[in-house]
Amino acid sequence: MKELQFSTKVLHAKPNKDDPHRSIRYPIYATAAYDYASSQDIEDAFTSKKIAHSYSRITNPTVEFFEKKINILEGGVATVAMASGMAAITNTIFNLVSSGENIVASKYLFGNTYSFFKNTLANLGIEVRFVDHSDFEQVDSAFDDKTKLLFVETVANPQIIVADLSKLADIAHNNDAIFVVDSTLTTPYLVHAKDHNVDVVIHSTTKYISGGGTSVGGVVTDLGSADWTKFSILSKFHHLGNMAFTARLRKEVYRNMGSALSPNTAYLHSLGLETLALRLRQSSQSALKVSQYLQEHDSVKTVNYAGLINDKYHSVASQSFTKKLFGGLLSFELADKETSYKFMDKLEIIRRATNLNDNTSLIIHPASTIYSEFDAETRNDLDVSDGLVRLSVGLEDAEDLIADLEQALGS
Ligand code: PLP
Repeated sequence: MKELQFSTKVLHAKPNKDDPHRSIRYPIYATAAYDYASSQDIEDAFTSKKIAHSYSRITNPTVEFFEKKINILEGGVATVAMASGMAAITNTIFNLVSSGENIVASKYLFGNTYSFFKNTLANLGIEVRFVDHSDFEQVDSAFDDKTKLLFVETVANPQIIVADLSKLADIAHNNDAIFVVDSTLTTPYLVHAKDHNVDVVIHSTTKYISGGGTSVGGVVTDLGSADWTKFSILSKFHHLGNMAFTARLRKEVYRNMGSALSPNTAYLHSLGLETLALRLRQSSQSALKVSQYLQEHDSVKTVNYAGLINDKYHSVASQSFTKKLFGGLLSFELADKETSYKFMDKLEIIRRATNLNDNTSLIIHPASTIYSEFDAETRNDLDVSDGLVRLSVGLEDAEDLIADLEQALGS
């Protein structure tokens, strides 16, 4: 049979062990621990001689099934689910980089990732070299022999910058480093990271994958292309070949940091995956209509959305987004902060909230919220102006969203 399509793959993925009652929907195994038939069985589980669940901070059947689905969609070697997108990012870096080494990262990052890189890692002796990832020469010249990886987001927000993944993968690999990508905004449905030579792909599953803002989670997938023998931090696990990254993550870093995803959340995220393609199609189509409307409005200075044919990133996005859909997130610029606040306060359907890729449309003023911990100079460097507004387009009918924007903007 030919390879199944995205939604069929998710709907017909099989758990590692069937539920004994053959329930159609795989159950939530709400348990911390697991019973063993004998003491020898416990020893075999703890020493990895037998594969068995021992404690849900390490593995759990419901979480494992969610990990398997993501892994199938990404075509990975292995996937580990975590308590949040930030846990997925922090665990990945701690798994690969030691004090005295460095990473190269885009300066256009989700605010908390930026803060983790700039503040937390600096305190631990890990240097982060921030670059503009659209400037390939700048990226290339940031590497040295202590650089372990390059980190970018597929679509950086609120600026809506689309990364040229294949080009950046080449730069990282030519510099003997690996390429780690946060694909939260694109999900495995819009961008198949493996096709662009990404080595490790991360998602905050809190967004689209959760089914629409139901719960917080994250995933890390090893796509199988990295040579882990080049990472001395993984030396204890080198004998496991391409499982070395996941083995250290699971058996040391993630286990010791207590980053486990709860089985209840894994259940919701598995459910969310089943309708991911449907929801992404709807919100991408509406986001394009909304962007086209905003682009024509006199009060709107600029609109950032890669689906617009005159957008700076339309061409690179058209090449790397598999479905020719451009996602549900856009941003646009009004005159200043006061104008933005007045406009946002008048909205009746679109909600003022910090999340994105919910089923409900959400709007936020990034400079005064997500970027409020940064000074004006840093915000300026990151292109987060006082007039910038970020809009996450949900599943409402596009006509209703446009009517709401129209009454709030004024004609
Ligand atoms: N990566 C991106 C691109 C995000 O937008 C976010 C959150 O907004 C995160 C990571 C962090 O995810 P979480 O909130 O699940 O920790």
